[in-house]
Amino acid sequence: MNDLRNFYVNGQWVEPLSTREMHVINPATEASIATITLGSVEDVERAVAAATAAFVTYSQTEKNERLALLEKFLGIYNERYEEMAQAITAEMGAPISMSRESQADCGAGHLQGFIDAAKSQEDRVMLYNGDILVREPIGVCGLITPWNWPMNQVALKVVPALAAGCTCVLKPSEFTPLSAALYAEMLHDAGFPPGVFNLVNGDGPTAGATLSRHPDVQMISFTGSTRAGIAISKDAADSVKRVTLELGGKSPNLVFADCGEDLESRVNDSIAEVFFNTGQSCDAPTRMLVERCCYEQVLEIAERAGTTQAVGDPAMEGGHIGPLVSDIQFERVQGHIERAINDGVRVLCGGAGKPEGFETGYYVKPTIFADVSNDMLIAREEVFGPVLAIMPFDSEDEAIQMANDTPYGLAAYVQTGDLERAERVAAKLRAGAVHVNGGGMEYGSPFGGYKKSGNGREGGMLGLDDYQEVKTLHFG
Ligand code: NAD
Repeated sequence: MNDLRNFYVNGQWVEPLSTREMHVINPATEASIATITLGSVEDVERAVAAATAAFVTYSQTEKNERLALLEKFLGIYNERYEEMAQAITAEMGAPISMSRESQADCGAGHLQGFIDAAKSQEDRVMLYNGDILVREPIGVCGLITPWNWPMNQVALKVVPALAAGCTCVLKPSEFTPLSAALYAEMLHDAGFPPGVFNLVNGDGPTAGATLSRHPDVQMISFTGSTRAGIAISKDAADSVKRVTLELGGKSPNLVFADCGEDLESRVNDSIAEVFFNTGQSCDAPTRMLVERCCYEQVLEIAERAGTTQAVGDPAMEGGHIGPLVSDIQFERVQGHIERAINDGVRVLCGGAGKPEGFETGYYVKPTIFADVSNDMLIAREEVFGPVLAIMPFDSEDEAIQMANDTPYGLAAYVQTGDLERAERVAAKLRAGAVHVNGGGMEYGSPFGGYKKSGNGREGGMLGLDDYQEVKTLHFG
C-alpha cells in the first residue's frame, strides 16, 4: 500500500501541504498501525480544484463508458477483497469473519446495486405534457464518511457520484483511513481519469468544514453524528449546495406476544442485531418495546442471550463481537452505561467496565437493561455500543406512540405473528425503514431517515438521484 501520509489528488499520490499527523490505532491492541496526515484548508482546496477541472470532461462522458469503468472496478475490488476485509478489521476492530461477510461485502454489493440502478435509469424522459426531462451530474461532490461501516458508507457515496458523472473529494473518517486508501488504489487501477476521484484525510473541523463551505463543491453527502450533520448543514448554507445526511438513530423494536412459539428466536435475533458490529450501527434496534403479557418471558430470553454473547479478538475467526473503535467511543459508552444504572434501570447483564480478560483493547461488556422508561437518556440518546434498553407496553397504540416518541426516525423493527398487524403498525411508524420478523435490506434499496436521522436516501435508484440535477427541455 502507498504511504498513508499522502493524499490521492488528480490521479496520483501527492505529498500533503499540511504537516499535522495522527496515529491510526488498532482498537484490539491499542498499538499504532499507521500514520496519516490531517489535511489543511489548502490540501482540500487543491483536491477540489482537481475535481473541478476534471468535471468539465467527465460530466460529458457517456453512461456506458462510466459503467464500463465501474464494472472493471468491481473486478479489481473482488480480487483485493481479502485485503479490504483485513484493513477494516485492523482499523476499526470488526471481527475478521464479519469483515468478510458484511463489512467488505458492502463495497461489492453497493457497487453492483448502483451499476444495476444506473442501467435501468432513463436519462431522457418525455413527460406527459410533451416536455423533456434530462438528468445531469450535479457537479463536484464532497463526501464525508464515518468509521463504523467504512466500506458501506464510502461505496454508498463514491459509486453513485461516479456513476452519475460527478467528480468528488472523499474525506473518510480519520479513524478508518486504511480501507479508504485501498479503495483509492483500486479506483486508480480501474482507470478513472485524473481528478475524478480524490482523497484527502483530515479531521472534521478543518478538512470536513472546508469541503462543506467550499463554493465550488455543489453537493455534500455526509454520514455520521447528528451533531456533525447540523454543523455541516450550516457550513453549506452560504453556498446553497445540496446536502444529504445520514445521521443517528434510536430504533424501536416492537415485540408482540402473538409471535407465539417464534418469540424466543425473534428475541434472540433482535439481540444479535443490537450487538452486531459491537453496537456501532446507526440503525441498530436498541430500544426493545415488549407487550407486557410476555415481558418477563422476554427478559429471561434476553438475559440468556446477553450473558452468552461472546467477545473476542477481531483477528480470530468466529461469531464473537470485537472492541469499540476508539478510546473516545469506549469512554462515551461507559458514560451511557453508568448514567443508566444511576437512573435506576434493572441490569440483566453486562454493565460498566471491561469484560474479564480484556485489559488491553476497547472492549465493553454486552449490556442489557430492563425496566427502562422511554424518557430516560438511555432510551433517547444513541449509545453506539452493545447496549440494549427494554421496556414494556400495554397496547398496540401505546407501542406505536412510544416507538415514535424519539427525535430519530432511521429504522423500526416489528416482531409479530400477525402480518396484518405488521402492515398496520408499519404504516404508523415514522421511520425510513421497517423490518418485520428479521427481514433485512437488499443492496439497491434506499436507506435513510425521517426527523433527526437525516435527509435524502442512499442506495440504488434514489441514491443516484441525490447526485443528479434535473433539467427540463421545452421545445417550441
Ligand atoms: P462524527 O460525526 O464526529 O464523525 C463522522 C465524520 O464526520 C468523520 O469523517 C469526521 O471527521 C467528520 N466530521 C466531524 N465533524 C465535522 C464537521 N464539523 N464538519 C465536517 N465534517 C465533520 O462521528 P464521531 O465523533 O466519530 O462519533 C460520534 C457519534 O456519532 C457516535 O457515538 C455515534 O452516535 C454517531 N455516529 C453515527 C454514525 C451513523 O452511521 N449514523 C456513524 C458514526 C458515528
